Amino acid sequence: MASKVAVIGSGISGAVCASILAKNGISVTIFESARGPGGRMSQRREHCEDGRELLFDHGAPYFTLNANNLELQSLVNSWESRGLVAQWKEKFGSFDYSSKSFVNVDEEVNMRYVGVPGMNSVCKALCQEPGVETRFGHGIGRSDWLMDHNTWSLTNMDGQDVGHFMGVVATDKNTFLSRFTDVTGKQPPIDLNSDSEVGFQIKEIPAFPCFALMLAFAEPLSSIPMKGGFSFKNSEILSWAHCDSSKPGRATTSERWVLHSTAKYAELVISQSGFQKPSPALLTKVAEELFQEFLRTGIDIPQPFFKKAHRWGSAFPAVSIAREEKCLWVEKRKLAICGDFCVRPSVEGAISSGIAAAAKFLERLAT
Ligand SMILES: Cc1cc2nc3c(=O)[nH]c(=O)nc-3n(C[C@H](O)[C@H](O)[C@H](O)COP(=O)(O)OP(=O)(O)OC[C@H]3O[C@@H](n4cnc5c(N)ncnc54)[C@H](O)[C@@H]3O)c2cc1C
Repeated sequence: MASKVAVIGSGISGAVCASILAKNGISVTIFESARGPGGRMSQRREHCEDGRELLFDHGAPYFTLNANNLELQSLVNSWESRGLVAQWKEKFGSFDYSSKSFVNVDEEVNMRYVGVPGMNSVCKALCQEPGVETRFGHGIGRSDWLMDHNTWSLTNMDGQDVGHFMGVVATDKNTFLSRFTDVTGKQPPIDLNSDSEVGFQIKEIPAFPCFALMLAFAEPLSSIPMKGGFSFKNSEILSWAHCDSSKPGRATTSERWVLHSTAKYAELVISQSGFQKPSPALLTKVAEELFQEFLRTGIDIPQPFFKKAHRWGSAFPAVSIAREEKCLWVEKRKLAICGDFCVRPSVEGAISSGIAAAAKFLERLAT
């Protein structure tokens, strides 16, 4: 493989983009700042005091596809036939705090897909495909376009040179937004100031935050009539709950639930505590508040043997910056920007954006 592209981020948009490029003869290195793949489709590994291991899909609980999206449906079918995803065929509904009652969801909903054995399974598999090299724990701290050589030079967060590439795919808004500087005091790794057109389009990408609460119970929560998940109505604090251990391919030695806060609650906590990494004390306080709100349903909920909160500072982008194009492309530097913030705040949006970014490289290399 002659050409080399660097993909920054192993979330679903980056993983899909890398896999398409590799299948078309372009070798790819994915750089991921986290220890594992998946981004907001990650699976969290936790250990109880007695050493027991617990796994939680603490980001996206599942994804759906628009019925007309035949290209994505065939891609997801191929993942399903490889055993990477499966349909989550459980009951779903909602709980209304005003009437203190559950309502089943009767309407026709698109198929709900989950990764097997965790939401990160697709990203994990795509990161290991032939032609794709993945370097975890390698956050990109700096990238320089060397005009004389027509290549990118990338440096990781520790200041180490990690190689030269003919093109770069950026999949996280923090890699190019100046907002990154406000929070970390550092320059974002990709400087878009020289690309006036693109830079102008993306000065800011607001996003809604969310806290996720991971709970593990020794006994099933048998008073909850739907074992898939349910949304909450008329709560300022909770928006969603799902039984993670009810998904196909999960261990059923304990019953694990994941609850999501409302964006309003998360925004309030962040406005009081700041945007820096949340302290363990803050996460404990949030976990207690979310759990108390769960108890306020009046459902019979026993004490969990595991309870921990996680903050997603930018869970759902509030805007879409590329709509029809589905990604941004800077021709003179062979830079593609993709991710859900380009299309829609969903796994489906992120996949279409990753496909569009790969297509840009393939079009340019074909000419
Ligand atoms: C709580 C929650 C619930 C959700 N619910 C749903 C749902 O029900 N259905 C649905 O379809 N979607 C849902 N989503 C949204 C969905 O998860 C996202 O739309 C999708 O996963 C985004 O993928 P992405 O590739 O665009 O970005 P990400 O997954 O965010 O990937 C970006 C990656 O880049 C990495 N990165 C960032 N900076 C650097 C750097 N400098 N160097 C190297 N790597 C870097 C990050 O670590 C990350 O892995 C949910 C998300 C959350 C958080």
